[in-house]
Amino acid sequence: MSETVLNGLYINGQWQRGEQLIEVINPATEQPLAVVAGGASAAVEQAVTAATAAFGPWSRLPASERAEALGRIAAGVEAQRDELARLQASNNGKPLWEAQIDVDDVIATFNYYAQLAADLPGDQPVTLPSDAFSAHVRREACGVVGLIVPWNFPMVTTAWKLAPALAAGCSVVLKPSEVTPLAELALARIIAEAGLPAGVFNLVCGSGVDVGAPLASDPRIAKISFTGSNAVGVQVMQRAAETVKGVSLELGGKSSLIVLADADLDLAVELAAGGGFFNAGQMCSATSRVLVADNVYDAFLEKLLVKAAALKVDEPFADGVEMGALVNAAQYQRVIAHIARGLADGACLRLGGVRPEGLERGFFLQPTVFTDVPLDSALWQEEIFGPVLCVRAFANEEEAIGRANDSRFGLVASVVGTDEVATERVANALQAGLVWINAPQVIFPQAAWGGYKQSSLGRELGPWGLAAFQEIKHVLRAR
Ligand code: NAD
Repeated sequence: MSETVLNGLYINGQWQRGEQLIEVINPATEQPLAVVAGGASAAVEQAVTAATAAFGPWSRLPASERAEALGRIAAGVEAQRDELARLQASNNGKPLWEAQIDVDDVIATFNYYAQLAADLPGDQPVTLPSDAFSAHVRREACGVVGLIVPWNFPMVTTAWKLAPALAAGCSVVLKPSEVTPLAELALARIIAEAGLPAGVFNLVCGSGVDVGAPLASDPRIAKISFTGSNAVGVQVMQRAAETVKGVSLELGGKSSLIVLADADLDLAVELAAGGGFFNAGQMCSATSRVLVADNVYDAFLEKLLVKAAALKVDEPFADGVEMGALVNAAQYQRVIAHIARGLADGACLRLGGVRPEGLERGFFLQPTVFTDVPLDSALWQEEIFGPVLCVRAFANEEEAIGRANDSRFGLVASVVGTDEVATERVANALQAGLVWINAPQVIFPQAAWGGYKQSSLGRELGPWGLAAFQEIKHVLRAR
């Protein structure tokens, strides 16, 4: 494919070409897909100015009109479902069927927040202990918001922020990942057709330093909603602190899947493979620690190794592909380095750790399984963000819970077992924002997303995701 230069700025209802050229590649072929002409601080300045001017009228519109706009975006995404999925798969390296799940999630999220906007409550009376006063509270849009997203689920992480922000009445400046801007550019084209007033939605492609940092510093921004690494999340928070901005953070994870002694082992293996190898393991929610009751450990491990060895790793559009490529050379090297360090630290490599045979190009890695991983090693403690599972036996429930909670992260967890009381008891003891019991990692826009400890600050999705973009105003009147 010859390289196309795409306008990487959508500001105040106009497409523009910035001066920072970003080469976007297809990770399955390592070939260039496009060049995006993104911006830097001057573009951020323009975009925030446009969003600031648009905020008042947009936030004062009847919520039903904002709901209609969100519905039009959902319909626009649905109409382009196949093209968007193909774009997502090409730019990210994930199998087409995974990209289709992403696009369906985007549609569901915009539709859900369209409904919440349509049902936004008005003034809520407050009962006071005095007849001399009356009071009510109302929720208002918090202002102009900056949305900064990563590359692992482009469009999805965006939708989880953008849909509630627009529903609340915020105007927005979105910064996609420079690694995967193509799906967000396509989404921006759909939004441009959806009839939002100019300046309500602005997009600035570019690097973290050129675009993300000035966005996090701009005093006119009321809130930054960020998804990405902990290191950058901390920097964003520090910049935002200078002007006391609101901050929502969705960061890393080191999550566990716990297989109890009475678990259906075939189900446990399916869920472990899904939690470790979906999106080539590049998930904040990857359950990369697999904790298995010692009396079923050998049987589980044998089945897991068979399953992982048989997974079809291939390019996104290949027939029967089950796992795609990692996103780029840097991520590939990071994962390879983790594997090498794990070996040096004494972990036992049971499967994978190398490029699959027959795939000479592209950032492909075999599904990888370690056992005997030292508890203080980086492999056990740090987020790998690749298709790497560490399997370990436990003697009893307390040990499993202790091992799972022994982390600075607390995003998600999975529990597999047939005893309802035991699985619920374990779920309740885990320090995680979402616990799946005998279920794959399904996420509905109606329910909460986010974690404990250093995984998150705040919650996305559901009514909590909307509240994240609202201020509460209390009005008190003397009678
Ligand atoms: P990253 O932190 O490198 O980048 C995320 C975004 O921040 C990108 O758009 C990047 O350009 C921007 N950025 C980089 N430097 C910046 C700076 N100084 N100021 C402002 N913005 C800056 O993360 P990544 O490599 O794109 O994504 C992987 C990470 O994202 C993983 O750690 C993963 O766990 C996390 N993640 C978390 C969730 C969640 O919901 N908790 C979801 C997806 C990904």
